[in-house]
Amino acid sequence: MIDVSGEITKATAKPSRMMRQYELVERVRVYDPSVDEDLLNRAYVFSMQAHGTQTRASGDPYFSHPLEVAGILTEMKMDSTTIATALLHDTVEDTLASLEDIQKQFGPNVARLVDGVTKLSRIELQSDQAKQADNFRKLVLAMSEDIRVLLIKLADRLHNMRTLHHLKDPEKRKRIARETLDIYAPLAERIGIEKMQDELEDLAFAELNTDARNSIIARLNFLRSEGGDVANKVLKELRSVLEQSGIKAEVHGREKAPYSIWRKMQRKNVAFEQLSDIMAFRITVDTIEQCYQALGAIHSRYHVVPGRFKDYISTPKPNKYQSLHTGIIGPEKQRIEIQIRTKSMHEVAELGVAAHWTYKSGEQRTDGTQYRWLRELLDIVEHAQKPEEFLEHTKLELFQDQVFCFSPKGDLIALPRGATPVDFAYAVHSGVGDTCVGAKVNGRMVPLRTVLHNGDQVEVVTQKGGSPSPAWERFVVSGKARSRIRKFIRTQQRAEYVTLGRSMLEKLCKQEGVSFAEKAFEAVAKNFQAGSLEDLYANVGASLQPIRDVFNAGFPEHRAKADDKTDKSGEKIALTTKPKARSLTTPLTLKGLIPGMAVHYARCCHPLPGDAIVGIVTTGKGVTIHTQDCETLESFARVPERWIDVGWDDGHGKEEGLVGRLTVVLTNLPNSFGTLTTIIGKNNGNITNLKITNRTPEFFDILVDVEVQDVKHLTNIVAALRANGAINSVERTKGR
Ligand code: MN
Repeated sequence: MIDVSGEITKATAKPSRMMRQYELVERVRVYDPSVDEDLLNRAYVFSMQAHGTQTRASGDPYFSHPLEVAGILTEMKMDSTTIATALLHDTVEDTLASLEDIQKQFGPNVARLVDGVTKLSRIELQSDQAKQADNFRKLVLAMSEDIRVLLIKLADRLHNMRTLHHLKDPEKRKRIARETLDIYAPLAERIGIEKMQDELEDLAFAELNTDARNSIIARLNFLRSEGGDVANKVLKELRSVLEQSGIKAEVHGREKAPYSIWRKMQRKNVAFEQLSDIMAFRITVDTIEQCYQALGAIHSRYHVVPGRFKDYISTPKPNKYQSLHTGIIGPEKQRIEIQIRTKSMHEVAELGVAAHWTYKSGEQRTDGTQYRWLRELLDIVEHAQKPEEFLEHTKLELFQDQVFCFSPKGDLIALPRGATPVDFAYAVHSGVGDTCVGAKVNGRMVPLRTVLHNGDQVEVVTQKGGSPSPAWERFVVSGKARSRIRKFIRTQQRAEYVTLGRSMLEKLCKQEGVSFAEKAFEAVAKNFQAGSLEDLYANVGASLQPIRDVFNAGFPEHRAKADDKTDKSGEKIALTTKPKARSLTTPLTLKGLIPGMAVHYARCCHPLPGDAIVGIVTTGKGVTIHTQDCETLESFARVPERWIDVGWDDGHGKEEGLVGRLTVVLTNLPNSFGTLTTIIGKNNGNITNLKITNRTPEFFDILVDVEVQDVKHLTNIVAALRANGAINSVERTKGR
């Protein structure tokens, strides 16, 4: 903002000479008597020596930059640690100094802050799409674990903007200005540093739209001269109105900053002439009561512009800004805006969070903030004993529930914490997610279930014709990925159920000696609440509809003969596709099954990859997998239509949670149990259950359940056990 009475500050003004060590210390001492003089002195000397003869684009010694950044932060009354970090902020990135050096010389706190600022400087908005700005801001916030990191970064940017005109390359100047406007000015706004926001915006505006800014300034000057001393007249009258009402107040008049006028012109699509409220007045009083009294005095004296009144005192803005805003037709028949606030509210408005630890007023504040982090900040402000303590505990928990990653093009994608490359792929495009077969993170191939971190660059490898794997559902965390995968499974599952149901009926017809006729089943579909023949097949396939009932309805003349025994080794159902199975408990890759269909491994025989297996369709339960030699299968001999031919997918990966059961006879010796568990452990088996079934003076009979990858793995363990003398015998157990 620009004081009406004053001149526009030259943004390009720079000090004619560098601040000296003692001057910096004195600046801090003014607001912080406990200044760490030694720390500041050492940081000053270290930085100056590290930057040595480096120079800036302006020709100035490079050291002038960190020094100026430190200077900006003294204006914000920052603590000694922050000022020291500001002095050192470019040493790791731009000089031979390492983070270890900083750590050794200045301790872990300064090192952590320097590291934070360095990391922030390394990420740059790689694509200049405006829609990325919001995510990028979030990334910056997420990476600023300590609010001081963010404040130093903003001060760094402010000084770079002040010296931007020294850069020769106009493209680079524009890019930096655009980034400032999109990212850093809104961040300053967000944490409530109005002063810095205004300056960043004005400097960026000057670079990006010099003509517009110049004409607005010229226009403002013209209005000022033409209107005579309008501002002063208004000031005088407002003061007397307040005085008459017995309110002690300070009144300031100001013009809006050129950039905020420009934004308003764009937003409302109006010409400058139509913008009447370019003047704003600020009334500062001592107490909240006086704020409302002043508002009453103004409203009873002037016409109020409808819709302009806002009470940010009872409902503060998220950045904790508090004020009353109103618009009136002022003394000179001009529309003017008035802000009414207390002195401490004013300090918060100008300095934002930085104001809080110098904030000693006992003034009551209502906490209407909607952001958790701000509530936490407030909490810390209220409970911290010292400014130092406040800062130490201010770990910004900003967006800790999110993670931000880059695409190879530099687009930024925001994902929930715990997201994987599959979530990333779906966030890019559902087509990319559906056909995703692999991923590179920061240039390296990684498993699709890898958890992504802030700033990771993710390249998704897709394959034409690829399709989502049901297994993904177990590790994706984003709603979009999950719903797409489920949808795909449902669609494919239905198709598979239709095929399965149809072939089950075909098979049953063959058994019963009738020729399969679609028409017969189509006619009875309605009887089974199936809308179509396909629905009926799907219901049979999913075991929702007993197949016998359907068959009997289709061929009423062929009553089912319950005792008709059919050879179970008869023709097995052959599925044309090669779907994959999953189960909530034991996800394993099987051939011949339906995606999404519940799969259980029979407890009687504990089938393992490599075993010859068969599936039994169980109504309402999906498919149970047995080993082909399992005794339990005899009880299914009469219902061959429920048998399905399944096999292990050769390419199955390492699956967990599969259990093989062993019957072990152990010699009763002191270390027998230890030997048993050691051998199993050494062979990467995981004992999940162990039960002594019989005990004699010589031997223990034990049942051991071991988690293994496949039957070969179990065979290895059995062989290793047999090789040991303490173990009398080992057999794999199937059936009871
Ligand atoms: Mn810098």
